[in-house]
Amino acid sequence: MRLQHIHQKVVVWQSSIFQTTTTLVDAGNAIILVDPNWLPDEIAEIQQWISTKHRGKEIFLLITHSDFDHIIGCGAFPEAKIIASKGVHQREDKEKKLQEIAEFDAQNYIQRPYPITYPFVDFIIREDGFSMTIGQLEVLFYLAPGHVSDSILCVIPALQSTVFDDRHGLWITGDYFSDIEIPWIDDDLTSYISTVDKSLKILQSYPEISTLIPGHGKPASNRDEIFLRMQRDKEYLQILEKMMECKTEILGQSQIEEQLKAYAFPNQMIAIHRHNLKKIFKTKSEIRET
Ligand SMILES: [Zn+2]
Repeated sequence: MRLQHIHQKVVVWQSSIFQTTTTLVDAGNAIILVDPNWLPDEIAEIQQWISTKHRGKEIFLLITHSDFDHIIGCGAFPEAKIIASKGVHQREDKEKKLQEIAEFDAQNYIQRPYPITYPFVDFIIREDGFSMTIGQLEVLFYLAPGHVSDSILCVIPALQSTVFDDRHGLWITGDYFSDIEIPWIDDDLTSYISTVDKSLKILQSYPEISTLIPGHGKPASNRDEIFLRMQRDKEYLQILEKMMECKTEILGQSQIEEQLKAYAFPNQMIAIHRHNLKKIFKTKSEIRET
């Protein structure tokens, strides 16, 4: 697991598995902890960090979405207040999510010193722009369907609101805008494109945002890089959209192959791309049937 100091108030751990990130934001008398994951030793390192550097502070545990890799560490922080979307709160297949964790653990002979639990949501995000004051920070949330239907984005416009020369803003995006992964469509393409468009507006509305932390991969540390990631994802999605309109998987294929080569794990990206194709063409035939 790799620890990175993003800002005086922000640290990010990158798991050895899928480069999944855990973010911790120091909010003064509280902390915001995002998606703690994956392995027991990794979770223990995070717990240790909190107990030495933030002892006694209230913990707000933000769950960006209900994919099992993002809820796997929830049970290790039973004292935390949980923030997640209405979708995470209302899921009917909560047992299935827990089953996925149990299967991963069984396959890898992993025993955890804490119970595997589905997040019980204390603060439910129901609408765009919902804002909360956590410790000394203002935190805003946006609904972000497309990857999965219950994703949210989290914006902290000013990490040190009382210091005028530091208006450093942070954006935590869950499984959007990764440097290591193409868009992964488990919800639907149209929603994904809308979320990217919404995100472009968010970036414009908050000129303070200078760091983006994705659910997998490395943080983007300036606005140009953030914008480039968004553009790259949008280009890919627009090709998929054209494929869907023309009802062919061939169109744009060579352009996509070129794009995928630029990623660190191109073969895995091809697998995700195939998954996306299956998803969008299945959706289309479902639409035709109804
Ligand atoms: Zn993920």
